[in-house]
Amino acid sequence: MLKQLLDRLLDLLFPPKCTFCHDLLEGEDIPLRVCSRCREKLVMMQDPLKGEFFDSGAYCFTYEGMVRKSIHRFKFNGRKEYAAVYARYLLQRLEGETDLQQADLITWVPTNRKNERKRGYSHAALLARHVAEGMGILCVETMEKTRETRGMYGLKPHERRANILGAVKVSCKREQLAGKKVLMIDDIFTTGATAGECARVLRMAGAEKVFVLTVAKTEKSY
Ligand SMILES: [Zn+2]
Repeated sequence: MLKQLLDRLLDLLFPPKCTFCHDLLEGEDIPLRVCSRCREKLVMMQDPLKGEFFDSGAYCFTYEGMVRKSIHRFKFNGRKEYAAVYARYLLQRLEGETDLQQADLITWVPTNRKNERKRGYSHAALLARHVAEGMGILCVETMEKTRETRGMYGLKPHERRANILGAVKVSCKREQLAGKKVLMIDDIFTTGATAGECARVLRMAGAEKVFVLTVAKTEKSY
């Protein structure tokens, strides 16, 4: 009750804007945090994610236009609340995916600690927690970066591999992964090099299957 009142007060002080187009929201769009125009315009992609070391994967949107700008605000402008909105779409995307639905636990792709400190939260962890809550399964921090990595943009395939190889290690107890089907969450799937390396270390630690689910995928694999 108090939380609802507080939320309403915050909405009055800071009128809520659409997660995607950033226009002011009205009426029934307010609780959804997405305007009706964007709800109509957003195309949920149906093709799978492909890459090495993971069993299967899915994503919601192409990383362009308003989706791209929205994820940028989520990562760099402190829009933590977008995680709940994206999770709604991630859960919706899971509906037809019988493979991914088998997951026993949720985890996320670890980010560079420096970026995390700067923004004060791990955006991928926030997404993962919301998805786990929606699926009613456990969310576990399973990996950490052992060194900072460069962005994958503009790197050639062999450079990508070198950039990420050995940069991720398992940070949880092995029993937590042994024989488990793990669903790994991230915001953007770019080249698959990072997701592949994470899947590889999870498997080495005993995970039976690794699935990937992201909010967006870049159009080109660069
Ligand atoms: Zn909108």
